[in-house]
Amino acid sequence: MFAMSPLLSLVALFVFAAVGSAQQKVLIPEKLERATVVDENGVAQWAEYKGDECPNCVGKGKVKCTTCERYPEDAKFCLDCERKPEREAPCRMCAGEGKLKDPLHTAPCPACGAASFLICVLCAGRGEIGVAGAPKPTKCPGCSGDGGWKCATCDGKRFVEMAAFKPSFADAKDKDLQKALTQTDALLKQLEDFAPVGGPKARKEVKALTKMMESVQATFPALKRTIKSTDDVMNKVYGGSQFQGHEENEANTMKMVAAHTAHYLKHQKRMLELVHKRAEANAKVDGAGKDEKSGKDSKGK
Ligand SMILES: [Zn+2]
Ligand SMILES: [Zn+2]
Ligand SMILES: [Zn+2]
Ligand SMILES: [Zn+2]
Repeated sequence: MFAMSPLLSLVALFVFAAVGSAQQKVLIPEKLERATVVDENGVAQWAEYKGDECPNCVGKGKVKCTTCERYPEDAKFCLDCERKPEREAPCRMCAGEGKLKDPLHTAPCPACGAASFLICVLCAGRGEIGVAGAPKPTKCPGCSGDGGWKCATCDGKRFVEMAAFKPSFADAKDKDLQKALTQTDALLKQLEDFAPVGGPKARKEVKALTKMMESVQATFPALKRTIKSTDDVMNKVYGGSQFQGHEENEANTMKMVAAHTAHYLKHQKRMLELVHKRAEANAKVDGAGKDEKSGKDSKGK
């Protein structure tokens, strides 16, 4: 623990940088496409995925670091680019691989938004906090100087699995697709209306967010893990509750997770629609190859 009284006068100078600037460009989920090929039986199959060059990093796997762009020039620490001279961070659109990942098999993490970490909003990832009137910054009490936490939802891998369907997401049954689409729309609406303010309401708001995710966690296992990640991070953020503006820190942490979750859900929704579209087209093809297909092909190919 840290002493309470001297910190009462501290002002976190970088509070608002975290949510506004720590974002890289993201793919527009509504525009995702996934090619199919018609086989000899006239059935549309998913085409092999080759992976287009990532438009965010143009194949480099790295982009200009947006996490530390508002840090003071002499800052030595950044979770994202480590403040190496090039100030380049791994690209979140392609998980640093340079090629886009197959949207039929993997989705950007609903907790960290493919950053691999959850940033500490107290210090905006700097690990230290500017103190009004003091010559030197002080170690951040939220993250103990770490700047944030490795994301437990994706285990730092940036991308997560798709909705859990049998035999697979790519070959999901219509009934499951419909149910998931309804759940996705409902949760997206709830997230849109979710406007946390933090402070005395923070714990209640986290509970509300948890409840929303719980309602769909059987379909979306990644959201089950996001509940825990959010809880863990909020418990750290409460460590800054004696700071001016701590309500915003708490609210911003919840908003950050809610925004990433909404993006993840839009990605799921788009792919659910494409899976549905293919299934529908195949249903029109003479009932022939249908029965043997539904049970066997679990690789989604
Ligand atoms: Zn990229
Ligand atoms: Zn950086
Ligand atoms: Zn993550
Ligand atoms: Zn911190």
